[in-house]
Order: sequence, then C-alpha cells, then structure tokens
Amino acid sequence: MKQQSILVSHAGGPEVLELGETKIPTPREGQVLVKVEATGVNFIETYQRSGIYAVRYPFTPGSEFSGTVTQIGKNVRHLKVGDRVATASGEKGYAQYTVVNESELGKVPDKVDLRLAAALPLQGMTSHYLTHSSYLVRSGDVILTYAGAGGVGLLLTQILKMKGATVITTASTQEKKDLARAAGADHVVDYDQVEATVDKVTNGVGVHAVYDGIGKDTFETSLKVLKRRGTLVLFGGASGQVPPFDLQRLNAGGSLTVTRPKLADFLATDEERAWRFGDVFGWAATGDLDVRVGQKFALADAGDAHRALESRKTTGKVLLVP
Ligand code: NDP
Repeated sequence: MKQQSILVSHAGGPEVLELGETKIPTPREGQVLVKVEATGVNFIETYQRSGIYAVRYPFTPGSEFSGTVTQIGKNVRHLKVGDRVATASGEKGYAQYTVVNESELGKVPDKVDLRLAAALPLQGMTSHYLTHSSYLVRSGDVILTYAGAGGVGLLLTQILKMKGATVITTASTQEKKDLARAAGADHVVDYDQVEATVDKVTNGVGVHAVYDGIGKDTFETSLKVLKRRGTLVLFGGASGQVPPFDLQRLNAGGSLTVTRPKLADFLATDEERAWRFGDVFGWAATGDLDVRVGQKFALADAGDAHRALESRKTTGKVLLVP
C-alpha cells in the first residue's frame, strides 16, 4: 500500500520539500503504525532541510505529530489499535502514515482534540523542560524571553505565569504583541526596547534568567540584561547560530551561567517523558494551557509552511494536515 509523504533529496531551500509516494511502513517489534492526523512544523526541520543539522538523504522530516494507531508490532505492551497518540520524538511525520516506537508515544486525553494534540508535544515539552529543568523558575523571578507570540513563546509565557514569574517578552508586530499579552506576558516590547524595559522593571538589577530562541541577533542583549549569577538558556537560533564567544565574559558579567539545551536530552527516560507529557497534556485538558494553531498547510504545501516560519509570518503553532 502506498501513501504520500515529503521527500528531501538534498539540502536546500523550502523547494526541496517535495511530495512523493512511498510504501506504508510495517511496524517492527515494539513499534506501532500511526495514521497521522496532523504534524507539527518546527524550526528544527528548517535546520535539517537547509543542511545546518546533518541528515541522511532521502529524508522525510517530522518528529512531532498526532494520530491514531492502526497496526501493532510484536511485543507492544501499552497501546492498541484505535488509540489516540502524539509524540515529539517520532520520525518521518511529514507523511500520511509513519511507524513509531511505542515508548516515544503518549496517549492523548479524551478532552484534547486530536488535531490540536499535534500542536503541543514539541513546543509544550520544550517550554516544560526550560522552566522546570534548564533553569528552575521560582515565584517572583523576572524572566526575559523573545518572540512571545511564537509557538514556544505563547506556551512558555503561560507556564512562566503559572509558576509566578514576571514575564518580559518581544514581538515584531501589533498583532503578535496582542497575542503575547493575551497569553499573560506582563511587558511586551520591541526588540530594541529590551534593555530599557529590563532596567525599568528590575530597577537596574537585571533578570533572573533569559530564554533565548532567537540566537545570533539577541545573544549580546541576553547576556547584558542578566543579574549577578543569572542564567542564559540559549535554546535556538531563529535569526542564526551564535558565534563562539569568550568564556571569561561570564566572569566579568557577574558569574553568569549559559546553557545550550535540546529537548531530546530532557526526555531521557520513560519517567521523564511521562512527567512532561502528562503535565503539558493535563494542562491542555483542563484548559490551564491554551494552545493556539496559527496556520495550517496541506502536506503538499510543506515548503510554504517553512517559508512562513522562516520569514516571521507565523504565530503560535504551524501544522501540516495530510
Ligand atoms: P516561533 O514560532 O517562535 O518562530 C520564530 C519567531 O522568532 C518568529 O515568528 C519571530 O517572531 C522571531 N524572530 C526574531 N528574529 C527572527 C529572524 N531573524 N528570523 C525568523 N524569526 C525571527 O518558532 P518556534 O516556536 O518553533 O521556535 C522558537 C525557537 O525555539 C527556535 O529557535 C527553535 O529552534 C527553538 N526550539 C528549540 C528547542 C530545543 O529543545 N532547544 C525545541 C523547540 C524549539 P517576531 O516576529 O515576533 O520577532
């Protein structure tokens, strides 16, 4: 049986995301076949597509998706045909069907719409580990983050507010600023207003932590606005990667900490994955976490989805619907 999927034959621009026909895969031991309901589009796939991250060709991107289990491999213990599932750590999700190790999947609570469930695992669990593990946010902290209307930004802001932090964030348009404010951000400003805002809000002391997913364009400001012993969590490079820098600057800046984490290292055990998945989907089920899908694209238009993400045209989550 054949299916449609995206195939990338070499590194390049969004045009290398071509729709093709592949065989529907058969689940091996410990795996299930998932009929994809929707696939999350994430920056990592733009890094993979353009060659910043090495991949093997032909390549089908897509680690985040939701769907229904349609076939079970040998020794699958916790899932059955018909289960509604989602993952942030699958493979080949830009497709109608894909196989996944049972251990990578979480069950989607009944109260969460299956399509919406594709909008949550990667950016939701990222926001979870950033706030609970990379730097443990405490009530009363003042936190700076950027792109407050982005996929991570909207979820991160809501989780920061749950934890009792004051949130300073940025957005490039009025529409995005309104969304960031609606998510609970206390101060939403232009990028060139960050230093002055931190200065005002913290009486010149600086912020406890910065969550920086913009990278090249914001890194210097992020270091500058930290308080003594503050932490910079550099978790992405939407504007480009940060060049090498002199560690001595951390000493001069006030014994600062910089960390450069990735989600996979914070889903290291079944327990850890279940904890983060359970919290994030639990909050979505109770309505404590509002999940916004900004744009949906057909699978064939995956290139347009990448173009939109890379050119700052998106808000919230971008989904592909096969
Ligand atoms: P977003 O939805 O946040 O989109 C990126 C946003 O960044 C844009 O909408 C834009 O918002 C802002 N931006 C500022 N400068 C630029 C620029 N030069 N080019 C493009 N965008 C820019 O994306 P995601 O939520 O998917 O991802 C945000 C970041 O988080 C990415 O860097 C991604 O790699 C990272 N990430 C890291 C993970 C990890 O574990 N380390 C996991 C998941 C994501 P505005 O117009 O308002 O400025």
